[in-house]
Amino acid sequence: MDDLATALAAGGLYLDGRWCAAGDGGQAQIVEAATGAPLGTVARASRHDVDRAVAAARAAFDRGPWPHTPGRERARILHAIADLIEHQSAAFAELEARNLGVPLRKAMFVDVPMAVEHLRTFAELARLHPYEPLPWTDMPSVSWNFVWREPIGVCAQILPWNYPLLMAVWKLAPALATGNTVILKPASATPLTALMLVSAIDRAALLPRGVLNLLTGPGVEIGEALAGHAGVDKVSFTGSTAVGRRIMALASDTIKRVTLELGGKSPSLILPDADLDLAVDGVLFGVYFNGGQSCEAGTRCLVPREHYEAVIARLVRRVQALTVGDPLDLATDIGPLVSASQAATVERYIANGLAEGARLVAGGGRIAVPGCAAGAFIAPTIFADVHNQMTIAREEIFGPVLAVMPYDSISEAIEIANASPYGLGAAVWSRDIQAAIEVARRIRAGTVWINDHHLIVPHAPFGGYKQSGLGREHGLQGMLAYTETKHIHVDLFQRRQGRIWWDVLLPPEDGA
Ligand code: NAP
Ligand code: MG
Repeated sequence: MDDLATALAAGGLYLDGRWCAAGDGGQAQIVEAATGAPLGTVARASRHDVDRAVAAARAAFDRGPWPHTPGRERARILHAIADLIEHQSAAFAELEARNLGVPLRKAMFVDVPMAVEHLRTFAELARLHPYEPLPWTDMPSVSWNFVWREPIGVCAQILPWNYPLLMAVWKLAPALATGNTVILKPASATPLTALMLVSAIDRAALLPRGVLNLLTGPGVEIGEALAGHAGVDKVSFTGSTAVGRRIMALASDTIKRVTLELGGKSPSLILPDADLDLAVDGVLFGVYFNGGQSCEAGTRCLVPREHYEAVIARLVRRVQALTVGDPLDLATDIGPLVSASQAATVERYIANGLAEGARLVAGGGRIAVPGCAAGAFIAPTIFADVHNQMTIAREEIFGPVLAVMPYDSISEAIEIANASPYGLGAAVWSRDIQAAIEVARRIRAGTVWINDHHLIVPHAPFGGYKQSGLGREHGLQGMLAYTETKHIHVDLFQRRQGRIWWDVLLPPEDGA
């Protein structure tokens, strides 16, 4: 049996190193996004299963060997997990394309290789000695001081549906690299590649029991139970800002560590000197990659007024080159959205754009794709003459919808770019790198791409300003976000003389 079938046949929840069913027998059906064909039956965990998972992760952290395993050993394990994905890369890519509906080509060239690269990057980081020397000090005493980094403990990791395998790896790699134990909660619509990964790790017997646990089930029930659980030390969440807010509130009871990667409304700024052909293709990549279902998608395009109509004409021409179709067809650029309800949300935003007076210049509705009757396909949509106050410019749509607006000066463009509750990403298009860097520095966002978009580098911190999140993932910062900081102070001389105690509290004994 393959890894996914093994996991599902054995119940679908992975707790304390064993597969089991939900305590109350709950199950949920997972379907293929494009066709609606059943892909498998997963467990539907409840609060009782959350308690079981937390107990297992707690025991593995408090009494198991994992937090004390040397970094080089954790590095070996992360490389071995990367190997597992690499050995089954075609199967992972196909499963991702079937479950989520993303084009197979994109799963093959982005999701799977980036997941492997991410694990290997964190394998390298795991080998760094978690030790920071501090300067010698004689005040308040002659002492040797150093900072030691330790794992935080039990980490609940709640995943969104838009990059199921990659997000699972983004969460697991830094947590395991630093010696934490984990409870992974995939999105209800797209749990299959995470299940397959955990099953492969289990088959290879790479981790002590309880270090990695997986729960599938409704976020409103088990996500909330995890975020509020007294036995959980950290919550890492990627998803909507509304749920992020809720998680932060629940986590506050026990002062959990929280990393949040939330929504966005990222601007693409075309500067007047940009190579317009390159910029237009880049803007289309920025907004339609993954069908627009990316938190960092470039959904607001700001164009200098002198190029405004020319850029719109070129956007409208180039968007015709995109093929919306069956995700398994290698010619497809855009597949269906993850679900009919997500498509309904996107359609509501399109109707709203029309009602608020934006000019629809491309797309605007559903497309039927032969052989994919159940798929919720939406044509890549472009609105011109958008004002930043319109709903389609303010709210995250999470679908293939671009809002184009003109600007008259660079300062106005920066003002529009920053006039958003979000601050996740931005792109600047210009031939003048120095000018582009100047603009990049004035944009309130966690990542600014110059003449590119979406390229999330495993070594570079990624996260949001403002309501786009809290903390950073990836790179050294992302790894340290899974550690507690301990200062160790060592008195160097062990003499009775010269102690500050005797100046401020105790009189010295006779003869001291
Ligand atoms: P969501 O509700 O934020 O879900 C993300 C994850 O959180 C899922 O695993 C979900 O579980 C879980 N969850 C849901 N409610 C929860 C709660 N009260 N407490 C704890 N966990 C909870 O996102 P969505 O409903 O899938 O999508 C809604 C919108 O969120 C999208 O339209 C998009 O704007 C945004 N979004 C952003 C990102 C991003 O990358 N920043 C990713 C996905 C979606 P279930 O799957 O079981 O509900
Ligand atoms: Mg939701």
